[in-house]
Amino acid sequence: MGGDPSCHRFRAARQGPSLRLSRVLQIRLFDKRQTERARHLDPVGDQGYAIETPRLLLNSACPQFPDGLANSRGMVGKFFMVQSNHAVYGTFDEEIRWYKAPPSLAITEHWNYTDSGKDFPGGYAYMSQGPLPIEYADTVTGQRGLWGMELRNEMAKYNHQAGLKIVGEVLPQEKNRVELADETDEYGLRIPRVVFSYGEEDRKLYQHAIRFMSEALQAAGGKDIWSAEDTAHLGGTCRMGADPNESVTNADGRCWDIPNLWICDGSLFPTVAGVNPSLTIQALAWRIGDRIRELARRGEL
Ligand SMILES: Cc1cc2nc3c(=O)[nH]c(=O)nc-3n(C[C@H](O)[C@H](O)[C@H](O)COP(=O)(O)OP(=O)(O)OC[C@H]3O[C@@H](n4cnc5c(N)ncnc54)[C@H](O)[C@@H]3O)c2cc1C
Repeated sequence: MGGDPSCHRFRAARQGPSLRLSRVLQIRLFDKRQTERARHLDPVGDQGYAIETPRLLLNSACPQFPDGLANSRGMVGKFFMVQSNHAVYGTFDEEIRWYKAPPSLAITEHWNYTDSGKDFPGGYAYMSQGPLPIEYADTVTGQRGLWGMELRNEMAKYNHQAGLKIVGEVLPQEKNRVELADETDEYGLRIPRVVFSYGEEDRKLYQHAIRFMSEALQAAGGKDIWSAEDTAHLGGTCRMGADPNESVTNADGRCWDIPNLWICDGSLFPTVAGVNPSLTIQALAWRIGDRIRELARRGEL
C-alpha cells in the first residue's frame, strides 16, 4: 500500500469486526470486547462485498441517518445479483482424467457477443470443469441424491467424465435484496437476510446454456449427460449510477448522501455480465483510489 495515506485509511476501515459511523466524518473501530480502538476521519472506504457492505450501512443507522448510511432513497441492499452457475456432465469411453486440468478453464464467451439463436438478453461464458473427487462426490450426492452403491458406481466413472459450466448473467431486479434479519450475531449486530429468485429471462438463459453445453458434450462423444444447478459470484446492493434516485454511489463509488464515504467492491455493480467479476472489481478499486488521490491533490475532499 506504500505511503499513500488514503490507502491506509482504506485498510483501517477493514480491520474491525464491528464498524460504526457515529458522525459523517468519523469511523469508530471496536475490538471483539467492544473496546474502542481507533477513530478515523475521512475519506472512508467500505469494501465488504455484496452482503456485508449493505449490512454494515444498514446496521449503522443513527438519528442523522435513520434508515442506514447512504440510504436516503432506500437503495442500499437492493438489486442483489448472483451469477448462474449451471453445469452439464457426461461420461466418455476414453479416459479423460479431468483432475489434471485447471478446475475451471474458460472455453468460450460466444454467447456474450451473439444475439442470434437466443431468446434472452445478456449472455454467458462457459468453462470446462476439473473437480477433485470429493468435490465431484459432493455434486452428485447433492444434485442427484446418489448414495451407497449408486454413489460408488458413479464415482467409479470419475476418470471418464467431463463437464462444462457457465458463468451466467442474471438481470438486476429490485425485489432481490439484502436486508437485516431480526437475529443478531455475537456482537449484537443484526445478521443479513438475502432475498433472491431468478426472473423469467434468467431461467431462459440457463436453460439455453444447459441445452447448448449438452450438445457440445454429446458432439464430443459424451453419454449419460445430466445437468446440475448452482450459483456463483455476487454483485449489486450498493450500485453505482448517474441518478441519485436509482443508485447508492456515483460512477466513482462515492456515496451520494455522504461524500466522504466511498464504496469499493462488487456491491457497486449495476449488472453482473456473463464473465467472472474479480478483474473488474480490482480495476474499480484502482480507479476509485486514483480518483480519491486526485481529489485530495486538488484540495477537493
Ligand atoms: C470459491 C470461490 C471461487 C471463486 N472463483 C472466482 C473466479 O474464478 N474468478 C472470479 O473472478 N471470481 C471468483 N470468485 C468471486 C470473487 O472471489 C469475488 O467476486 C471477489 O472476491 C469480491 O471482491 P470484493 O472485494 O468485492 O469482496 P471480498 O473479496 O469478499 O472482500 C471483502 C472483504 O471484506 C471483509 N469484511 C466484510 N465485512 C467486514 C467488516 N464488517 N469489517 C471488516 N472487514 C469486513 C471480508 O473479510 C473480506 O476480506 C470466487 C469466489 C469463491 C467464494
